[in-house]
Amino acid sequence: MWKQRSRNAWLKEGDSNSRFFHCRANQRNRRNFIAGLEDSDGEWREDEGRIGSIIENYFRDIYTTSNPSAKEVGGLGFKEIEKFNDALLAKQVWRLINNTDSLCHRVFKARFFPDCSILDAKDSSSGSYAWKSIIVARDVIRKCMVWCIGTGEAVRIKEDRWLHGGANRSVISPLPSMAPNVNVSSLIDSDRIAWRTEVVQQLFLPHEVEIILGILLSARRPDDRIIWARTPSGTFTTSSAYKMLVSYDISNNAGSSNPDSQKKFWNSIWQLRVPNKIRHFVWRLCNNALPTLVNLHRRHIVPSPSCAQCHNFPEDSLHAVCICSKAGSYLQEFLQAQTKELVPPRPPPLQQWRPPDPHCLKINFDAAVFRRSSLAGIGVVVRNCVVEDLEALACLKAAQFALELGITRVVFEGDSAVVINALLQGAGAFASFGNILDDIRVLSTAFQLVDFTFVSRCCNSVADTLAKNAKIFVGAQVWLHDVPADIAPLVLRDVH
Ligand SMILES: [Zn+2]
Repeated sequence: MWKQRSRNAWLKEGDSNSRFFHCRANQRNRRNFIAGLEDSDGEWREDEGRIGSIIENYFRDIYTTSNPSAKEVGGLGFKEIEKFNDALLAKQVWRLINNTDSLCHRVFKARFFPDCSILDAKDSSSGSYAWKSIIVARDVIRKCMVWCIGTGEAVRIKEDRWLHGGANRSVISPLPSMAPNVNVSSLIDSDRIAWRTEVVQQLFLPHEVEIILGILLSARRPDDRIIWARTPSGTFTTSSAYKMLVSYDISNNAGSSNPDSQKKFWNSIWQLRVPNKIRHFVWRLCNNALPTLVNLHRRHIVPSPSCAQCHNFPEDSLHAVCICSKAGSYLQEFLQAQTKELVPPRPPPLQQWRPPDPHCLKINFDAAVFRRSSLAGIGVVVRNCVVEDLEALACLKAAQFALELGITRVVFEGDSAVVINALLQGAGAFASFGNILDDIRVLSTAFQLVDFTFVSRCCNSVADTLAKNAKIFVGAQVWLHDVPADIAPLVLRDVH
């Protein structure tokens, strides 16, 4: 190193590895030496250990929870390592819950929770570091998990979370006469595969009655499953868990200022149409982190804080970019650049309904929800040639309808991307409508040829309108050759 430096200096200045060179390098070393630092309490520290810890704390603060890191609350968007680690660990817990045959699950079960599930396992003081980490991460899963009811035998009414869309996803009706550990299966009539409506109405508060009776039951009586409420597919993802942890933190630490307006403010800054370095400049400006004369004077770097341009006022952040007369003209220029005309967004390509191949039929399906009357409509149309739960149900009814009509080769077309993708990829087992998807899969084996495709709503207008029309009709309506007057133009538009 020394030799290289001397060579460098020799090339430039004709110097060699001499005594003079060593003196100069040492002198430089001394000049760059940090003699002391101001700590967070504003006190000057000179001993080496304290200086080291001040530097260490400074950088740790940047990366950990004490600083807001999410961009919308004034951070720079750094991942908070601790929360991210919890989210990664939660993924392991999710795997343990869903792979009960794995060696890892069997070992932990035998050791720590032989009589219950991992969700009810108690923390053990003799547990390994790995087990303790899993117990911590289990709380992450608990915060956002919800049971998907199959038979209801594994889910307890009072203790477990099983109400999709309910407050906290658990039951808040008081249920005074109910003993603990009563299962949800006691609310289901297993012969009819339907909710015992009167029992539910007697026991629960009206809004919970609505949620419970809205839970779809499958005739196959599948097992109860745990699903993750933060993703539409119901599958756990590390990023959704991380976002959940950050949002919990933000809502828990919300100070006196209005968090929504703060979010709006920061989002508008991060969306400015300027290069990244300008956005970071604005971030530093808002955090008073620019080397303005006031800041430099406070650190004893310049003798006076007054503005070098107008000499009238101290140069703080606001003065430097806004109030000072010279800065004002630059600011005007910047604002003008911001008001340039926006290029109008390109209209989405128009899609048109297409008839199926000659040897099979096409069935379009859609669902509509009438929130006021808590009823829903399902539209199915068979032609030759999110409410995801309901979309899935509409698809199931479409398949049942097709089988009743004796159709064997068919394309099902729907405008719910979530349902169609889940059917195509064999995923969605964890969605709240996972059981319905499985029903559709079971039914679809009865067809000779079956395909599921996704179309935009404009290509699905007939089924869409049929579903909306269900508000007028009660029960199922079937038209075989003629069509209702208001549907006819849509059918014609599809064909031409
Ligand atoms: Zn000035």
